[in-house]
Amino acid sequence: MVAQGHAAAKQGRGAATVFLLALASAAPAAAEDAASPPVAVAARLVEEGDVARLSFDLSAPVEASAHALVDPDRIVVDLAEVNFQLDPAVGRATPGRGDGVVKAFRFGLFSPGKSRVVIDLARPACVEEVKTTPIVKGSAPARLLIALKRCEPGAFAAAAQASAPSAPVAPQTPEAAAPASGPPVIVLDPGHGGVDSGAYAVGGAEEKAIVYDYALELARQLEAMGRFKVVLTRHGDEFVSLEDRVRIAREANAALLISIHADTLGASAADVSGVTVYTSSERASDAEAARTAEHENAADKAAGVEPKAEAPSVAGILFDLERRETRAYAHIFSRGVVEQWRGAGRLNRNPERSAGFVVLKAPDFPSVLVELGYLSNPEDVRAMTSPQWRVRTAGAMARAIERFFAPPRGEQPGEARADEAVAASGKAAAAAPPAAAPAP
Ligand SMILES: [Zn+2]
Repeated sequence: MVAQGHAAAKQGRGAATVFLLALASAAPAAAEDAASPPVAVAARLVEEGDVARLSFDLSAPVEASAHALVDPDRIVVDLAEVNFQLDPAVGRATPGRGDGVVKAFRFGLFSPGKSRVVIDLARPACVEEVKTTPIVKGSAPARLLIALKRCEPGAFAAAAQASAPSAPVAPQTPEAAAPASGPPVIVLDPGHGGVDSGAYAVGGAEEKAIVYDYALELARQLEAMGRFKVVLTRHGDEFVSLEDRVRIAREANAALLISIHADTLGASAADVSGVTVYTSSERASDAEAARTAEHENAADKAAGVEPKAEAPSVAGILFDLERRETRAYAHIFSRGVVEQWRGAGRLNRNPERSAGFVVLKAPDFPSVLVELGYLSNPEDVRAMTSPQWRVRTAGAMARAIERFFAPPRGEQPGEARADEAVAASGKAAAAAPPAAAPAP
């Protein structure tokens, strides 16, 4: 079990600063089990002048390779799967860190059987060496050491050119592609995962865990209704690229995609709270929406994955019609979520917004991104980590989904029918007149 008690010790003398995570004798019994990945029990960053040494104490040696990435400048270290039994906060940016070479670092699962460490650089630094050394004299070499040295921007750019970290293995669609007929497929997309933790709350809660728990609860309630097929884009704490999330939804024949996140703002905006439902648009509805999209779209970069050049747009009028229509349906759904959420949980003062989220780009089915609340707001954090709140607000979401697909008879005559929204997810919908989409 992981022992608590980590100490950020500062060695005051001169330029040397030591960040130390010491875990009391977490002698990993798992190491004896050959099938289990090695366990990382301690991480330490030592900055000295132009040199930074990041080390991980492991229960067994692992192969590792380091690569440089630009925009922003990062060092990515690919390793065999490691079970990081570490406080994730050990790598976070803190005041004082960043005066040297390293701004922050994170670690976690990247692909099946592969882990990754991503080091955000405060200034260009080249890899001096990556090696494993014995933790104590005479023991097996199980301390992974990554040494970085400040270098010229040109040298860093050349290093980035010379090598590329591995791309994630595209996850398989968990379920076989759903037939076009049958119950509507609701794809739930809990954000982040694995090496990408997303945002974090002051109390230490991580976005990736909060949104995954939420997706599981919503899936449970939807499945209990017996009217929908539910597909999740990730299972557990794994990394899935933004592109793969959209692909999974498409292969599953999604009738609706709901991406689930939790936002954060600086301490100066700690009073901002409540749920916000985002739809896709070329131009952000406001500066806040633009900031949120930029932040969420950086998820791949946080995991050290280079975004692919945007696929050439499937040019043509049919594509535009289809996209306009699915966006109109996304708006209808987003309004429904806000209506149902009222009374179940807090709404943001402006709960319906739009911006250019990568994960909402699919033209063939409506999609929304829900920011459940703010990790920078203590009351929102309390709510989002409470099972009662989760059950109540997921119930509101499930009702919104139910009504979207089958509004009660006689309600709002002339309003777009949800079964049309299902149709809009089919290929034939592109030919339907855009007039079917009501004005926003
Ligand atoms: Zn997020």
